Amino acid sequence: MVKISSTQPIRGLFWFRNDLRTHDLPALSQLCEHVEELAFVYVMAAEKEYRTVEDVFSTKPVLPNDRRAQFLNESIDDLRYKLRRLGQELLVLRGDSVTQLSSFCQQNNVSYLGLTDHSGFNERVQVKALDEILVHTRVIIGEGTSLIDEKELPFSISDMPATFSPFRRKLEKSLERTDDALAPSPMVTQLPPPFLHNVSPNVSANNQVTKQFTGGESAALRHLDNYFKHSHQASVYKETRNALDTWEHSTKFSPWLAHGCISPKTILKALVEYEEAIERNENTYWIYFELLWRDFFLHLQKRHTKSWFAFDGINGTVPSTDFRQSEFQRWCDGNTGYEIVDACMKQLSATGYMSNRGRQLVASCLVHELNLDWRYGASWFEHSLLDYDVASNWGNWQYLAGVGCDPRGYRQFNLEKQTQMYDPNGEFRNRWLT
Ligand SMILES: Cc1cc2nc3c(=O)[nH]c(=O)nc-3n(C[C@H](O)[C@H](O)[C@H](O)COP(=O)(O)OP(=O)(O)OC[C@H]3O[C@@H](n4cnc5c(N)ncnc54)[C@H](O)[C@@H]3O)c2cc1C
Repeated sequence: MVKISSTQPIRGLFWFRNDLRTHDLPALSQLCEHVEELAFVYVMAAEKEYRTVEDVFSTKPVLPNDRRAQFLNESIDDLRYKLRRLGQELLVLRGDSVTQLSSFCQQNNVSYLGLTDHSGFNERVQVKALDEILVHTRVIIGEGTSLIDEKELPFSISDMPATFSPFRRKLEKSLERTDDALAPSPMVTQLPPPFLHNVSPNVSANNQVTKQFTGGESAALRHLDNYFKHSHQASVYKETRNALDTWEHSTKFSPWLAHGCISPKTILKALVEYEEAIERNENTYWIYFELLWRDFFLHLQKRHTKSWFAFDGINGTVPSTDFRQSEFQRWCDGNTGYEIVDACMKQLSATGYMSNRGRQLVASCLVHELNLDWRYGASWFEHSLLDYDVASNWGNWQYLAGVGCDPRGYRQFNLEKQTQMYDPNGEFRNRWLT
C-alpha cells in the first residue's frame, strides 16, 4: 500500500534496471543534488512483454527461466534491505516500463528521473520514449555499467574500432588502470527522505558466500572480498580460466555484473589493490583484459543498435545455416552426441552457468556442426544463463557465428581436440553425463 504525503517539495525518482546496487551510481549522486524528496523503483516486466526462445524475429527479450528470475528477486530483496538502511524504500511496479513510469511520474509530480545508462537496444528505446512523454520531468542519465565511461573513450561511438584488439590498444594508450576515470564514484551515504511510505515485507541482507550464485549486492561484495582478500586465485587466473568446471578457476563475477549488483569499477579497484598488496603479473592483468572485452561489446552494441540481433549480424554476412526444431531441441537438452557439448549443456541446465570455453564449444557446435541459425542458440542462452547480458551474449554469439567482430571471420572449434585439451580424463563429462 502506498501513501503520498500532502506537501510537494521537489521530487526525484531513481529507476533501477541492471544496476541493482547502492554503490557506484553516478546518476543517483546527481539526482540527490537536485531533489528534496526521493523514491526508488524497479519495473518488473509482465510475461507478455517477453518473447519465446523460438521467436527470433522479434527484438523483445526472451522470458528468463526460473533460476534467473530467482537471482533477480534475491537481488531486488537485497537492494530493498540496503535502501531501508538508508531510510528509503524500493517500489516494484509491474508491466511495461514506459507506461508504468510515465504515469507514476505524472501522478506524483516527479521533477527528476535518474537512471544508469544501458547499452541494450530495447532499453535505449524505452528511455527515449520516456524522455519524449515526460515533458515536465528532467531525465538524468549516469554511467556505471561499463568500466570505461563513454565520455572517456578516445573515439566516439560511431568511430568505434570494429574489432577488439585496436579497441584495447587505443584505450590502453589513453588510460592507465589506476586513473581516477576508472575509479568508482563515491558512495551515497545520505539520501533525501522518501515521498512514498510503502508497507512491504521485511527483508534481510543475503550475504552468504557458498560456492554458488546468490543474487544481490551484499553477496556480490562478499564474493569480491573472498576472491581478492581470501584467495590467491587472481595470481593464476589466466592459467585456470579455461577450465570447464571448478568454482575457483575463473572469477565468477558475471551474474552479479549482469544484474549490476557490483560495478566493474569496483572490481577493478579491488584488482588494483590486490596487485599493490600481493602480486601484479600477467594473470592479474588478464582479469582487466577480460573486463575490457565486456566493455568492447557494450560500447559496440550502442553503435549497431538493432543489427545486434540480426541474422546477418553487424557485418552483414548472411550465414548458410537454417533452423530445425528437433535438432535444436537436442542441442538444448544436451543430446547432440558430441559428449563435451552435451556435458556443457547439461551443466547449463543444472546450474545456470557455463565456462567461457564451454560456451565457445557449444556455440561452435550449433553453428558449424549442426548448421543451425545462431540466433536460436543466443536465445536459449538468454533464457538460461544467470549472467545473461544483452551485449556480451549476442556479441559473443555473433563472433562465433562469423557475423560479428571476429577479424578472422570464421571460428570453428575442433571438438575432439578440445575434448582432449580440456577434459583429457573425462572427469567433466562423467560428472554431467551420468
Ligand atoms: C557464446 C557466448 C555467450 C556469452 N554470453 C555471455 C553473457 O550473456 N553474459 C556474460 O556476462 N558473458 C557472456 N559470455 C562471456 C563469458 O563466457 C562469461 O562472461 C564468463 O564465462 C563468465 O564467467 P566469469 O565471471 O568467471 O568470467 P571470467 O573469466 O572470470 O572473466 C571476468 C569477467 O570478464 C568478462 N568477460 C570474460 N570473458 C568475456 C567475453 N568473452 N565477453 C565479454 N565479457 C567477458 C565478464 O564480465 C566476466 O565476469 C559469453 C561467451 C560466449 C562465448
